[in-house]
Amino acid sequence: MDASLLIIDDSKSARTQILEILRKTSLFKFYFEAGDGIEGFKTVLNRPVDVILCDLEMPSMDGFKFLSMMNGREELRDIPVILLTGREEKESKIRGLEQGASDYVTKPFDPSELVARVKVQLKIKSLQDKLKKSNQLLLELSNTDPLTRLHNRRSLMQTLRREFQRSRRIDTPLSLVMADIDHFKKVNDTYGHQQGDSVLVALGDLFNEKLRPYDLAARFGGEEFALVLPETDLANAQQVAERIREAAARLTFPGPLKELRLTISLGVATFPSGNIQSEDDLIREADYALYNAKRGGRNRVEPLPG
Ligand code: GH3
Ligand code: MG
Ligand code: MG
Ligand code: MG
Repeated sequence: MDASLLIIDDSKSARTQILEILRKTSLFKFYFEAGDGIEGFKTVLNRPVDVILCDLEMPSMDGFKFLSMMNGREELRDIPVILLTGREEKESKIRGLEQGASDYVTKPFDPSELVARVKVQLKIKSLQDKLKKSNQLLLELSNTDPLTRLHNRRSLMQTLRREFQRSRRIDTPLSLVMADIDHFKKVNDTYGHQQGDSVLVALGDLFNEKLRPYDLAARFGGEEFALVLPETDLANAQQVAERIREAAARLTFPGPLKELRLTISLGVATFPSGNIQSEDDLIREADYALYNAKRGGRNRVEPLPG
């Protein structure tokens, strides 16, 4: 692990002494030094830091002020701060711990105690980082369709709710495209379910490729997809849908699917529009447009009527 340590102390010799002790261990790859709280705070803002050793008494910004600056930043709150205190500063130690310090070491240091205390904080920090990472992964998984890697329905609904509110608030159009593969049952019947799956994946890739970064493609269910197009009016959304329809019709597949010609039908609805008061209405209207596209002969884009 490429851990890094920041030491904040106004005494150059104190910093050097601590660095000499810690360099004998292999706990850290990077060491940063700062002569006061301001300089130290600038370092934490600009560099990844895993453990901070911070002197209490320093000119311009002392250890307490430094702690309160750290507490003011959500992203810095989990970085452990070990205070460097004098032997007689019992009240300061307590106050420091109350203000968010993780531990303290008393000057003059016993080197092995310093190392042991730093090790504990580094261990906690690395466990916390792991936990954050796996929470992030879980969040991504809970929003992702496992087959196509597109957003799943849950994530779609979240985004649509948020975009609908935003569209209403800042008065810009929001479009939704519902897309459904034509005669997909026949694809499964002809080539098997597994080949059918690979078609869904290819179509998912195509959506991502054709959309802008702030659009969202989701698997709505089965072989039906939803495309959220913020700040897009009906005419533009129809153009996007048409381009996607054409690209899908041009898709070619390898191996057993090489004879397959895929087509999709798409329905488009845009807010604001008379009938649409909520994100559920937007879905219903786009779905209705899709139904019309199917009824009209498939392989086509239908806008919301009226
Ligand atoms: P239409 O043009 O009217 O949309 O006809 P269709 O055959 O596409 O529609 P229908 O609703 O009759 O059939 C959808 C098919 O999609 C049936 C179902 O087995 C298949 N399907 C749904 N989810 C999956 C999936 O995850 N993988 C595969 N391979 N097939 C799926
Ligand atoms: Mg000092
Ligand atoms: Mg279908
Ligand atoms: Mg369907």
